[in-house]
Amino acid sequence: MKRDLSFEEISDGKRYKASDCVKTDTHGCAGCHECCETTEDTIFLDPFDIYMLSKATGKTFTEMLESEITLKVTEGLIVPTLNKKKKGPCVFLSPDFKCEIHEYRPGFCRLFPLGRIWNEDGSFDYFIQVHECPCEDKGAIPVKEWLSVDEIDKYEGFVRAWHTLTHDIKELSLQANDAALKASNMKMLQAFFIEPYDTEKDFYSQFYSRGF
Ligand code: SF4
Ligand code: SF4
Repeated sequence: MKRDLSFEEISDGKRYKASDCVKTDTHGCAGCHECCETTEDTIFLDPFDIYMLSKATGKTFTEMLESEITLKVTEGLIVPTLNKKKKGPCVFLSPDFKCEIHEYRPGFCRLFPLGRIWNEDGSFDYFIQVHECPCEDKGAIPVKEWLSVDEIDKYEGFVRAWHTLTHDIKELSLQANDAALKASNMKMLQAFFIEPYDTEKDFYSQFYSRGF
């Protein structure tokens, strides 16, 4: 049986904060598009991603379900993922291999080849996935610059809040409480995805106003 690799095996063994420098700068990727080709339906999207994708496409979550995104179940949680073209790369990779929504790309794409490792107190650190990106000449860059999101403190606060909320729903699946799991998933989908975001307004105030 294949064993899970340890943190030390997939990383350089270090944990980083947003202000730390990491060697992930791929200098614009110089013609490489490997990670956009090999996503394998694993780009899970959160409400901030949906807000950004709505900005990029002018579509609501429900409209994007027709072509750009799909709902998947992972650990009992129903979440949207980015679609691939038929037997091909990400739906947003252009014929000349550029990200058509670069400014609005999902958090997963912003992070790569970084990952997040969660601590027991609900905080998280960043780490480098040392085996993931083939660029051999990566430069050093602060994590927050690599992520390239406005208001990094607000963004990280949202990431923690979303992690807590989704963690609580996943816990219901461990308790085999199917009725409660289904009800929580439906409530979460309606509140944070189906209800359209006003892309002319700030995301965070809309997210926190949607009580759960
Ligand atoms: S695999 Fe690395 S170099 Fe290639 S597109 Fe992705 S991030 Fe850029
Ligand atoms: S959204 Fe853009 S960066 Fe992310 S996988 Fe698709 S093409 Fe690549």
